[in-house]
Amino acid sequence: MLTEQRILSVDEALARILAQIPVLPAEEVVLTEALGRVLAEDVYADIDVPPFHNSAMDGYAVIAADTAGASRARPVELRVVADLPAGQVPTVPVRPGEAVRIMTGAPLPEGADAIVRVEDTERGAGTVRVFAPTRPGRDVRLAGEDVRAGDLVLPTGTFVRPAEVGMLAMLGRRRVRVVRRPRVAVLTTGDELVDVDEPLTPGKIRNINLYSICAQVAWCGGEPVPLGVARDTVEELEARIREGLSADMLITSAGVSVGDYDVVKAVLDKLGHIDFWRVNMKPAKPLAFGRIGGIPMFGLPGNPASSMVAFEQFVRPALLKMQGRRALHKPTLQATAEVALDNRGGRRAFVRGYVHQHEGAWRVRPAGQEGAGIMTTMVRANCLIVIPEAVERVAPGELVTVELLDAAVAEEPVAGSAQPGAAGGDDCCT
Ligand code: AMP
Ligand code: MG
Repeated sequence: MLTEQRILSVDEALARILAQIPVLPAEEVVLTEALGRVLAEDVYADIDVPPFHNSAMDGYAVIAADTAGASRARPVELRVVADLPAGQVPTVPVRPGEAVRIMTGAPLPEGADAIVRVEDTERGAGTVRVFAPTRPGRDVRLAGEDVRAGDLVLPTGTFVRPAEVGMLAMLGRRRVRVVRRPRVAVLTTGDELVDVDEPLTPGKIRNINLYSICAQVAWCGGEPVPLGVARDTVEELEARIREGLSADMLITSAGVSVGDYDVVKAVLDKLGHIDFWRVNMKPAKPLAFGRIGGIPMFGLPGNPASSMVAFEQFVRPALLKMQGRRALHKPTLQATAEVALDNRGGRRAFVRGYVHQHEGAWRVRPAGQEGAGIMTTMVRANCLIVIPEAVERVAPGELVTVELLDAAVAEEPVAGSAQPGAAGGDDCCT
């Protein structure tokens, strides 16, 4: 298979990527590890829930007919034959003229068919005065009203949120089968990079992408395997890439544009197969995708903000698919542009934006300078504004599509945090 020489559209690129991404095999985990995973088994109810009829309120278990016509002026007096806290079982039935003091969650005694709430009563010596009528079934939770034994409650493919964790607990599942998390090897490249705590000698910059990419992987449910930095030589790159091949995916950073020292592309091509390496988008036009040693491989652009945007568009959906997720795309909303947005060059633009609500409607503006390396803008952004290829200019007041970033917060940045520069700067091509 030859490397695609055309520049692919964002949609074509994503479709080609997803077509080559497998869903990983399942593993068994304990309940407390299931959050954020996808079920790889059908989970059935082993019991009725609730397991028995019980009281939904603190009050008195009664025969509803006994309370007919009760009022403040003409209370009905019943004999209290037992006290029943939650966790205990009733030992005596309720007969006509009788009541059992009952707490929320305690089993409904035999004979009773309703609860009178405690606020509608007054306790006497061995009796209770009832000030309001109840009706059969009132404030009684019926056995099996939530789930019935044998029901398919959580089918294969269900994404486990806190609610599903609670449901699994309710169904007595200490262990459950889920799709395995992808292990993602992350290799950064570039002679200019030093680690965060190394001295910044002339010409060097700190390695941002190793950390931002690993964080993105983790935030998408993957397990990052940081491989550090490889220098821009074929030998070192080859050696380090081979280290990453036991993972489920390899991500490399930088070296996929056309610079003289951008050898990543050459090495990826030698060891594996590059499917395509250019996408018609802004930023992140140089973006390689292919396969190497049997696993999918992404070559992200070196500019830190481009790298993050490219990850959001392509790596995130791939990682979600690997984990069995079905909703692969980010939630979007329509927002009113607060300022003009230019998009020359016929590419799909992803402008790092700040979306917020104003008088009940969503509004959006760029989060700062657009340069592909500007991290302050990334930090201030809570969304990406998507401008279609064919749209050259969005006028203020027009609606635009906005993709919410993970854990998007619609609050103003904390005072004193990175301030936006004037929107502008057009070095956003990589
Ligand atoms: P490249 O894709 O190699 O042409 O790199 C594009 C830009 O991104 C250059 O200014 C690099 O110095 C910068 N860059 C590459 N890798 C990283 C990294 N890991 N962290 C921060 N900046 C980087
Ligand atoms: Mg480079």
